[in-house]
Formats: sequence, C-alpha cells, structure tokens
Amino acid sequence: MDRVFAAGERVGVALTEPLGRALTGVLDYRAPEGGCGTGDFVEVPLGPRRMLGVVWGPGTGDFDAAKLRAVSRVLDARPMRAELRNFLSRAADYTLTPLPAMLRLATRAPGLGEPPGLRRVYRLSGPAPNKLTDARLRVIEALRDFGGASVTLGELCEAAACSSSVVKGLVKAGAVSEDEAPRDLPFPDLNPADGVTLQGDQVAAADALVAALAQGGYGTTLLKGVTGSGKTEVYLEAVAECLRQGRQALVLLPEIALTAEFLTRVEARFGARPAEWHSGVTQTERRRVWKMVSEGRAQMVVGARSALFLPFQQLGLIVVDEEHDTSYKQEDGVLYNARDMAVLRASICGAQVVLASATPSLESWVNAEQGKYTRLDLGARYGTAELPEMRAIDMRGERLASNRWISDPLARAVEARRAAGEQSLLFLNRRGYAPVTICRACGHQVGCDHCDARMVEHRFLKRLVCHQCGATKPVPEACPSCGVEGRMVPVGPGVERLAEEVAERFPEAKLAILSSDLFGSARALKQRIEEIARGEAEIVIGTQIVAKGHNFPLLTLVGVIDADLGLQGSDLRAAERTFQLMRQVAGRAGRSGDRQGLALLQTHQPEHPVIRSILGGDEEAFWRAESAERRASGVPPWGRMAGIILSGPEVAQVFDFGAELARRDGPLRRIGAQLFGPAPAPIARVRGRHRVRLLIKADKHAPIQAAVAEWLAQLKPPNNLRIAVDIDPQSF
Ligand code: ADP
Ligand code: ZN
Repeated sequence: MDRVFAAGERVGVALTEPLGRALTGVLDYRAPEGGCGTGDFVEVPLGPRRMLGVVWGPGTGDFDAAKLRAVSRVLDARPMRAELRNFLSRAADYTLTPLPAMLRLATRAPGLGEPPGLRRVYRLSGPAPNKLTDARLRVIEALRDFGGASVTLGELCEAAACSSSVVKGLVKAGAVSEDEAPRDLPFPDLNPADGVTLQGDQVAAADALVAALAQGGYGTTLLKGVTGSGKTEVYLEAVAECLRQGRQALVLLPEIALTAEFLTRVEARFGARPAEWHSGVTQTERRRVWKMVSEGRAQMVVGARSALFLPFQQLGLIVVDEEHDTSYKQEDGVLYNARDMAVLRASICGAQVVLASATPSLESWVNAEQGKYTRLDLGARYGTAELPEMRAIDMRGERLASNRWISDPLARAVEARRAAGEQSLLFLNRRGYAPVTICRACGHQVGCDHCDARMVEHRFLKRLVCHQCGATKPVPEACPSCGVEGRMVPVGPGVERLAEEVAERFPEAKLAILSSDLFGSARALKQRIEEIARGEAEIVIGTQIVAKGHNFPLLTLVGVIDADLGLQGSDLRAAERTFQLMRQVAGRAGRSGDRQGLALLQTHQPEHPVIRSILGGDEEAFWRAESAERRASGVPPWGRMAGIILSGPEVAQVFDFGAELARRDGPLRRIGAQLFGPAPAPIARVRGRHRVRLLIKADKHAPIQAAVAEWLAQLKPPNNLRIAVDIDPQSF
C-alpha cells in the first residue's frame, strides 16, 4: 500500500548498492522535513556517503530509534509505482539477487532527479572548409548521413569516431552550427491508424492478439513462424491496439544492430520513431527517455533487456522478439533471463506478452504445449517466398587441402549464385582469424594469462584476443614455452581466415565480413548490414550476428562451414542450440519472392540425430523428441536447476569452500534436490579468478530458491571469495 509519511516518521528505504548478501538492503530512516511517500526517490546518508534509494514502506522498527538518521532529500522524479516495486522484489526473490542490485537496474537513469541539463544539438551550417583533416571530414560525413536531423555531441562523436574537440573546431570554423535543444523535445506521437493488409494466417494471429489486449489482463502468447512469415507485421498490429488503448508497448530485441532496421520499419508503420533504450543510447537521451516513459509520454520503447526495468506508467504489451536468443540471458552481475522477467512483469501489471520466434526455446514450446501460453502459428512465408531447401555436404568424402574449409560442392553453388546475380552467405560461428595459435616445435598453445582460455588471433586487430576477458597481446615471434623462434602458426578457421580463402577462390567477387568485433560502433555495423541488403556484396562471410533477423532480399544461398561446431561438449542444451542456430541461419536464404533459397551444411556426421532433424522437415518432431529426452533426465524445462559459481584468487580455497558447502547439503536434501560438484566451472579461470561450480537439480515445483538461500546462509564465505547464484543456468 502506498502511503505518506510525516516528517520524523520511521520509513524503510531500499538502497541501490548491495550491502552484503545477508542483509535485505532496506534500511530504516526518519522521513525528512516535508515528509515523503512510498516510491519516492530519495537520497540518504550511509556512513560518510550519500546514496540513492527508494522509499519502500514503513520502517521495520528493529533499529534503535535514537540513532536513526533522516532522509537527506526527496528527489524531483515521479515516485516508483507499486507495480515496478513489486516486480523488482519478486525478480530479486526469484533470481536470489539482493534487492539493491535489482533496484539499481531500475535506477540507472543518469542524473536521476536532477533538472535535465541543456542539450546541445549540431547541424551542418556553412560550406565545408577547403582543407579538412580526416577526423573533420568524418564529422561532416556523419552529419550528412544524419540528413539534417539534429544530433547531440555524444552521438556525433560516436558516429564520426572522433573527440568532441574536433566538433568544437568545426563550430569555430563556421561549418557546423551548435544550438540549444528545447529542454523537453516533444515526444513524437505514434499514430496507430493504418497498417499493412495482413494475409492468411497473419489475420487470425493478429486478431487473437488484439482480442487478448482488448479483453485486458495478463497473458502470454508464443508467436511461432518461420523467418519471413510476417511475425513482425503481426505483433505490430498488437502494438497498434495497445497504443489505441492509450497504454505503453515495449519491444525487446536481442541485438542492438537490429534496432536501426526495426526503427525504420516502425516509423514507416506509425509515422514516428519510438524511444530507444540500450547501451548505445547517449546519456542525455537516456535521461529524456526515462522521464518520458515515467510520465507515460513515451508510448513505445524499443530496446535491449535492460528496458524491462523502465518506469512504465501503464504497460500494456511486451514483445520479446527472437525469444530463444541466448543474449536475453544476462550473464554478468545480476543473472536474469529477460524473457522470463518479461512474463513476470506482465503478470504483475496485467499486460500481454508476445514471444516471437521461428525456433522457440524449448521452455516456451513446452509452456505452450501445456496451455500456459497461447500458441499462434504462421505457417508459410509471406507472399511467394518459400523456405530454403536444406542439404548436407558430407565432409568425409571431401578432400580439402590444408587450411581450406570450403568444399567443392559449396564452392560450385556459390559460383552459380554469382552467375545469377544473387548473394551467398558463408556462415562460421567463430570470430577472428584462427581459434588457436600453436608452436610447431613443442606443441604449446598460446593461452590467456588471466583465463583458462586459448587466445584467438585477430588479424584485423593484429593481436591475439581472449574472448573471455578481452585481454590482448601481440602474436609472439618466439614460443612463450620453448623459446624457439618463427614456428608459431595459426590453427583452424575463424571468419577472417575464411575470408582469405574466399578471396583466393573468388578473386573477382565483392566480399563483406560481418562479425561483431569488426565494427567500432553500432552505426558502422548498421551501415554494413544495409549495404548487404542493397546487394553491395556478392559473398557475405559472417558469424552468429548474421543469424539474427536481418532481411537480405538477394541472398539465396547459405553455406554452413562447420555444422558440427555446436554439437561438441556435454551441454544438454547443445542439440537445441544447434537446431535453432542452423535453422535461423538457413532462414536468411531466399526470403523474398521468386528466388528459391538453398542451405548447405558441411558436416562430418550427417547421420547425427540433430543434423538429421535440422535437415528434416518436421520441426515439431524435433521439439517433441527433445522435450521427451529432457523429461527423462529431469532437466529444464521439466526440472529445475541452479548453478552456484564460486570464484576467488586461490584455487584450493575456492574448492575447499565448495566442498564444505557440499557437506552441508541438508537444506537441499530436504527438498529432494541433487547436488553435483564442486567441479571446475565450464571456464575454470576468468580474469585471474578460479571458478568452481556446484549444480543443483530439483523437481519442477520444488522451492529451489528458498532451499538455496538457506543452504548458502550457513557459511560465511572468506572475504575474497565471490558467490554467484544462477537460477535456470544456460548450460548444464
Ligand atoms: P518475420 O518477422 O516473421 O521474419 P516479417 O514481419 O519481417 O517476418 O516479414 C517478412 C517480410 O514480408 C517483410 O519485408 C515484411 O514487410 C513483409 N510482409 C509480411 N507480411 C506482409 C503483409 N501482410 N503485407 C505486406 N508485406 C508483408
Ligand atoms: Zn582472458
């Protein structure tokens, strides 16, 4: 219940910085002069510091009244609504995260509560000066790209990859104008009026979503349809209905690089751009969006998983596009899955959720089977476009020269597409040049100094890079182990190396490499994607990033260099992941009209059940089989799991602590859970810290959170040891 507290009354304030795992993170204070209310953003003293907090409710009263300190001030921001507070509490309980860490996700608006600063915007004004430095030229070009729209300094510097002094210099020279933007740019009004004319299955699917919204209340729908079947068009109809009701809509996308294309599409549909929320958005813009969302003025937000924590006034719809995508799982800091949190938030505020995918997660598939989610299917591709034909190339029969990865049948297929003026995509899910650098003299493999991982050569950067911690070093001349010089060689393919082979085999072809690490900014990546969509490349060489929802109309051939890559290892999700990835990649082929697509999978094990189900037409059969298998072994979604990662600088200490925890497994046994480990974590050392994992497996309905909390509370970890709890881990 929201209530108002008079000056001096005892209030509980939830802090935004964790104070240790055991504490709730809600501390008692005295209400300030003028009082305060539940949900108010406040600044409170904590030791010598001041900290942002939110008034959570009445104080608990178990702290000495005489020592109680007063709230320093109430900030000028809309109070946090009960719905959001409730969501944060429940999310904290579910993920076993201290409330302050969860609250921090919802208060990451820069300068929260401060008056919005003056925003300066830039435009081209005069003629460009004759002699331009490279940096200045980039600024001018970036401003031209923005096409007369005003840009903030941050955006401009990012787009031109330059420092602010370059822009300031151009302002001085009179080539660029600098103006004060109005303090609150009016938020553009989205107009839900007209859409496309839906066809076939689209009509019924959109009708069902609109009806669910009209009825009101919570519900989740799994919208399943192959890539190109028009899922986006369908859920945009739901967004339109939500806007008509005067409620707010949130669309989550797995990849920032997808936002640009999506925004353009929404703009075409609704006549204005929605608000954006992700790591690429400038601080000033974030502050503005946060405020507009909290005032209910931003009608639609498109963003990354962190947008789930925005202070919506009246959220009506959350769309999770490509819901199976692993990037929805936050693997750093607070470990949560945005798909599950979207469902939680919607169930609290009475909103509808649409989970859209061509290859749903097994979790969502099972929830739909059991009737917890409504399932809507889009059968065919929109228009005349057909699904690509899929075939395996048995690599056991191919004799490839060393350091060659493209088989003759694949090369011939690429050649045929080129002759027809069509695009090919060669997919290899490995960034960099070569995954391993090895010494020919002694066999030593270059590893990261801080992690238990091999260093990956990136020729583009001219360095070796650790994909775990980002550490880099030059490719060594001499072997770090035996000292012999000139014998260090790259082993295995990465996309950069594959590109070399492609350039040799097709010397005349125009190539484009698409790999997340080759682009400085989201904008540069977006440009490359647009170039490919326009047909400015004949052969595209890409990593996982190409699998995600892009529209390449001229692309008719997909060649998977190594379809077996994801099937190695013991992860129980390997089959699901490989199936999803292969289907997604193949789905890039032949998306438009009259061109039939073809996907060729290079594999050494064409009879492997997963490869066979990828090639086979019956998707539902794959899900049924996979579901049955998981059920038999009692793992998610048929059982529950939690991973506990212990990490510390001393390997023995971390193991000892893990072993001690394992000995005191009473709370886990009481709920019938099984405990595995301690064992080295999948990556046993990261950033110099040794990592040990304990895995807990329990029945689907077992109260796993309570048991784990009780279990961990028994032992206080040594100071330098960290415990991360991962409910529903991605790999098991
Ligand atoms: P998905 O999200 O399932 O991959 P999209 O919604 O992106 O599919 O649709 C694929 C392509 O077909 C897009 O270019 C889209 O604009 C077009 N499209 C889909 N449905 C319609 C329709 N009813 N009318 C016109 N164009 C459509
Ligand atoms: Zn490392």
